[in-house]
Amino acid sequence: MNKPSHLREIEKKVLWLSTWMIHNANHLRSSEDGLKIGGHQASSASLATIMTALYFAVLRPADRVAVKPHASPIFHAIQYILGNQTREQIEAFRAYGGAQSYPSRTKDVDDVDFSTGSVGLGVAHTLFSSLVQDYLRAKELAKDQPEGRMVALIGDAELDEGNIFEALLEGWKHGLRNTWWVVDYNRQSLDAVVREGLWERFETMFRNFGWEVAILPQIRLAAAGSLHRARRRATARLDRSMSQPTLFGTDIPRRRYLAQAPA
Ligand SMILES: [Mg+2]
Repeated sequence: MNKPSHLREIEKKVLWLSTWMIHNANHLRSSEDGLKIGGHQASSASLATIMTALYFAVLRPADRVAVKPHASPIFHAIQYILGNQTREQIEAFRAYGGAQSYPSRTKDVDDVDFSTGSVGLGVAHTLFSSLVQDYLRAKELAKDQPEGRMVALIGDAELDEGNIFEALLEGWKHGLRNTWWVVDYNRQSLDAVVREGLWERFETMFRNFGWEVAILPQIRLAAAGSLHRARRRATARLDRSMSQPTLFGTDIPRRRYLAQAPA
């Protein structure tokens, strides 16, 4: 199952299903007032590769994931493939009683780990969950339980939320570990294009608080050789013990961004 070719086939299904889910909500499902409520595909499509790799090759039962709010269709598509989500629910995506627009522990049926509708809070929640896990182990209240890794999938514009950086301080104070944050650096935001050069500021800030920072080249644009090297480096990191929190970022080449910028 963890061969890249198999993952690529699953990724295609995840991407198709999530794209269809949004299209169905926007254009196919009957609507009394004609409002388009399904959202847009791009903000979840940018996480299809990462989430396929996570859910089908990397995650262990004790791990917990906070899914970027706008990647909800990808999450529901993955859970449908795993048999934890129904066709009726995803056909009713964003409708009353259907799969939620943002993953919800109380309203979704497909085993959401963290509710992330309040943007930024799900990210900080993973950090504090890791600290609580360490506290329980230090008190020998959970010594027979396997350690879980706490993973947050973060939209780049989600890093505007101040609570994330307040949490960063607390993590440093208490020796945070077993925590991965993956920034989906697609430079798309509801408010504006994410500012040029901001990534370098984030990288410095995270390193200052003891995080390891790994930049993963954008997969479709990478040349075959560099993609192979990037995969090898990423795999080596995944195999390493998680004594240090890790921030993963995706890199969109500047020339591509400039080619798509409005005049
Ligand atoms: Mg974005």
